[in-house]
Amino acid sequence: MRTRRLLGVLAVVPPPVTVRVPSKVNLHLAVGEARQDGFHELSTVFQALSLTDEVTVAVADEPGVEVIGEGAAEVPTGPSNLAWQAVQALAEHVGRDHTEPKIRVVIRKGIPVAGGMAGGSADAAAVLVGLASLWRLEVGRDELAGVASKLGSDVPFVLQGGTALGTGRGERLIPVLSRHQFHWVIAFDRRGLSTPKVFEELDRLRAEGDPPRVGAVEPVLEALASGDPRQLALLLGNDLQSAAISLRPGLRRTLRAGVNAGALAGTVSGSGPTCAFLCTDAEAALRVAAELAGAGVCRTVRVAHGPVPGARVIGGEEAP
Ligand code: ATP
Repeated sequence: MRTRRLLGVLAVVPPPVTVRVPSKVNLHLAVGEARQDGFHELSTVFQALSLTDEVTVAVADEPGVEVIGEGAAEVPTGPSNLAWQAVQALAEHVGRDHTEPKIRVVIRKGIPVAGGMAGGSADAAAVLVGLASLWRLEVGRDELAGVASKLGSDVPFVLQGGTALGTGRGERLIPVLSRHQFHWVIAFDRRGLSTPKVFEELDRLRAEGDPPRVGAVEPVLEALASGDPRQLALLLGNDLQSAAISLRPGLRRTLRAGVNAGALAGTVSGSGPTCAFLCTDAEAALRVAAELAGAGVCRTVRVAHGPVPGARVIGGEEAP
């Protein structure tokens, strides 16, 4: 066990804590009209995927955030990093000073940045779980979820994981029964898309015409309960897809290429531009991924499965 001098007293330094946190795909995303507060009312079915970030929180002499891995150069390391905002929010919530001892956060990104897969939200959720463990806080998951919802609409879901129906801004969650492991191929685009810009584009398209809207959510919940990927594939839908395609027309080609490669169906994930393709099984996903990687329509291709659990400690010690 390491020790360090704190306010002139020799103190035990807790070991670093590493948390693995999932990304999300929206199986169904219905966008209502813009509210008074500028947010849109959403009804969405999230699934947590095995495409993950790993976040380590540690006591260190040099505080702050370090980002490595997928898209790291595009992620801010200052106060606008959502992971750092999570440090501040949890410290404030429990009335603790995060500057003595100082906290350092290292993010290993696997989730595409600005990809519509809740990468920043995932890092914030991971920090909540990691710091609660590092500081040995007696806070339950419900209390952490309360802090999470103030940080962003998707933070409570990646904290919880699994499959869930989200309403409000997406932060009010009801777990959904999902019997089956679903197998996905994920296509990363060359650049990200800004979530607010995609919502603005949807408002513009709706003011001008009538872009397609998803159907009712109930059949999606039934398909999840049945566990049949073919049934679910017919029901994947996202109201933001037309807006994402309007801003990034090349996505149409990516979506076609995934289906031509043998996927059951493809959808833009959240605000995009990442596309997610549902496949029959793990082997089919590997075949689709190989073919899609050779089609030259995207930057990187990954396979993933879901549902997986939310943010979980994988190194260091669990909170008592
Ligand atoms: P969502 O699906 O929740 O709408 P997203 O996956 O499209 O989000 P993020 O990866 O969360 O997008 O990034 C959106 C922006 O947030 C980035 O362009 C980046 O500037 C900023 N950001 C702040 N903190 C982080 C973080 N820890 N990881 C990634 N991006 C971050």
